[in-house]
Amino acid sequence: MNVLGSTRVLCVIGHPVSHSLSPVMHNAAIEALNVDYVYVAFHVLPERLGEAVEGFRALEIAGVNVTLPHKERVIEYLDEIDETARAIGSVNTIVNSEGRLKGFSTDGPGFLRSVESEWGKVGGCRVLVLGAGGSAKAIAFELARIGCEIVIANRTYSRAVDLAQSIGAWGQGACAIPLEREALAEAVQSVDLLINTTSVGMHPDVEATPFPPDLIRPGLLVYDLIYNPPRTKLVEEAEARGARALNGLKMLVYQGALSFEMWTGIKPPIDVMENAAVCALG
Ligand code: NAP
Repeated sequence: MNVLGSTRVLCVIGHPVSHSLSPVMHNAAIEALNVDYVYVAFHVLPERLGEAVEGFRALEIAGVNVTLPHKERVIEYLDEIDETARAIGSVNTIVNSEGRLKGFSTDGPGFLRSVESEWGKVGGCRVLVLGAGGSAKAIAFELARIGCEIVIANRTYSRAVDLAQSIGAWGQGACAIPLEREALAEAVQSVDLLINTTSVGMHPDVEATPFPPDLIRPGLLVYDLIYNPPRTKLVEEAEARGARALNGLKMLVYQGALSFEMWTGIKPPIDVMENAAVCALG
């Protein structure tokens, strides 16, 4: 990669950020397309978020990805946010148009593209979502938009209720259940797709699973947002029981690809980004 005086800068901000796969994915796309951009990671402390955003304007950073813990708080520093980001209260992508910063969320659309690229259309299907945090909200918004019926199961039941109410306000049927065996056993019987958005099973706690394996039936679609490890206990158990399973790597790639397209106007090569992420994960 040739970094020149004319090279435009893209970046990700987070705290921590050194583990992020975004630089490796985006720089692989930049190299493959031979365009004049470079993508770097900036560690930004929560108390310096406002200064960092001012820095994007001053340094004319072309585009920004926002990761934890800044996705919600960054909104107050932006000039504008799009409808989806406003609904879910979270931004993962900032586009700098001549100093005007607009926030978007590509998490939900990235999730949906990744599912549909593997399993085809899921509009109108019934979904059980484990978790009620930031990623659950982004995904639920997208699923509600395409007419899915959604059940939210969460350890902290009140958060499941809050999210189900938001989904109701977005015009789609939803209900909340506790993340407990009995409730899960009943709910899973009537769904087509099970999505894990909790962090249970993530490295280093790789033997943990958020869902009782014996409740998984053949033919169920099981999507685990976790990609480290690539095969979580949930993915292993699902495949062993004749379900179809995916990890979260494709969501990571597609949400990144959507951001890239917003910044550059160019569709990046998905396979190049995915291979780069897989190599980086080892
Ligand atoms: P978050 O907002 O902090 O939400 C975390 C969720 O996990 C909450 O629902 C929380 O339940 C639940 N949880 C945490 N520990 C738990 C435990 N021991 N037992 C049961 N539930 C537990 O986080 P997030 O941003 O939504 O991210 C969640 C996961 O998705 C992470 O593993 C993250 O790496 C992954 N992710 C992947 C992608 C991708 O592109 N593949 C994108 C975003 C996120 P409570 O409400 O009870 O605390």
